[in-house]
Amino acid sequence: MKPDPARKIQTKAKRIVIKVGSSTLTRDGKLRPRKFSELARAISELMDSGREVVLVSSGAVAAGSHRLGWKHTGRSIPQKQAAAAIGQISLVEIYQRRFAHYGKQVGQLLLTRSGLQNRERFLNARHTLQELLRLGAVPIVNENDSVATEEIRFGDNDTLSANIVNLIGADLLIIITDVDGLYTEPPTPGQPRPGLIDVVDSVTPQIIAAAQGTGSIYGQGGMASKLEAARVAGRSGAATVLCNGRKSDAIARIVAGDSVGTLFRPRERMTSRKHWLAFTTRTQGTLSIDKGAAQALMTRGRSLLPAGVVKVKGKFGVGDPVLCVDAKGHKLARGLSAYNANDVERIKGLAAKEIGRVLGYSNGPEVIHRDDLVILDD
Ligand code: GLU
Repeated sequence: MKPDPARKIQTKAKRIVIKVGSSTLTRDGKLRPRKFSELARAISELMDSGREVVLVSSGAVAAGSHRLGWKHTGRSIPQKQAAAAIGQISLVEIYQRRFAHYGKQVGQLLLTRSGLQNRERFLNARHTLQELLRLGAVPIVNENDSVATEEIRFGDNDTLSANIVNLIGADLLIIITDVDGLYTEPPTPGQPRPGLIDVVDSVTPQIIAAAQGTGSIYGQGGMASKLEAARVAGRSGAATVLCNGRKSDAIARIVAGDSVGTLFRPRERMTSRKHWLAFTTRTQGTLSIDKGAAQALMTRGRSLLPAGVVKVKGKFGVGDPVLCVDAKGHKLARGLSAYNANDVERIKGLAAKEIGRVLGYSNGPEVIHRDDLVILDD
């Protein structure tokens, strides 16, 4: 069959992140062995055709709760974390057995946002993933639910998978879920299915706002987090296909260029470091900046100088990510601060040449150097 011209991009993908949700891998909390077999076969075929694949798999909490005989997924955070600790073993064990059929090794990576927002650990995780791919193994990634609490987690594997796309420089993200793709309007039970959108050029905040949650009790992310993942992957220069895991041949058809689910086209690629800064890090503080500084940042590609800083909020240290907002609180940019919060407070509004005199030291004339700054343009 000839590939659909709009879907040609799918046939070119060399490095692919596949994210599969609990709703596909489990039924009533129980792992579905057939789904694991299908995935292992489809992924092994991709690898044998010269592509590299990283699998982001959910299902740990669901599988663990089932093993514990619970009808719920944990009533408290420690219960959920214990369920994840138990279920993660079942998950990788079954992957290991299924992939062994195809002569493939699997490797497990459990990641957290707080780990990846540390630049050194981010690069470390990249090196490990690259090495696993070089060895012809299948990296299986999940959030480290057992140690991650609210503040330090991605919260759902959709978001995690989009960050992995940037981490390894993937060119395609496939999100396998329990809906066919993005509908023209949210489906209502008992009503005819709304139309499916074939191709989305750009994930706008309006599209995200219109999407309503379709998450099951086991999966974390609803449609909005899938769209956000497509947006974030798009900024890394990767296309995303959102498709239904019910069909066993979805992955093979996607790389053959078939019109499966919804394709989200990529956007212009940000450098990996700027992408990390914009989407993986969590900001530790906020700098309100004046009009002149906003203009210098947004239209003239300049650094942020102390003279343009009006207000400092939050506690941050040297090198921590901070958000820059205008007088109305609109988010303009993110950057790594060259000074800690106390010191930015002391030099705000001053000319750069005053820094040394006021602080007794200088880390340079910029509060945020341009190389450490990313504009948030959508
Ligand atoms: N990390 C969770 C798990 O393995 C799932 C998160 C999600 O569904 O997005 O159970």
